[in-house]
Amino acid sequence: MKVAVDPALCEAHGECVSILPAVFDLDDDEVLQIREGELADDEVAAAERAVAACPMGALRLSR
Ligand code: SF4
Repeated sequence: MKVAVDPALCEAHGECVSILPAVFDLDDDEVLQIREGELADDEVAAAERAVAACPMGALRLSR
């Protein structure tokens, strides 16, 4: 499972960073960075919560 952001939608609210900081990070310019590659099995549930919590609907999970 992987997670991706649509940068055109993200407004850097940071909910995803609060939920899963090992994967999501806001850089110094308030641009969301997502760790590359597959999510660990124990990160998937938190990633799903982050997707649901994003007020912009900017995050997507994919296989
Ligand atoms: S919660 Fe959504 S809008 Fe906020 S930083 Fe994450 S992807 Fe961007």
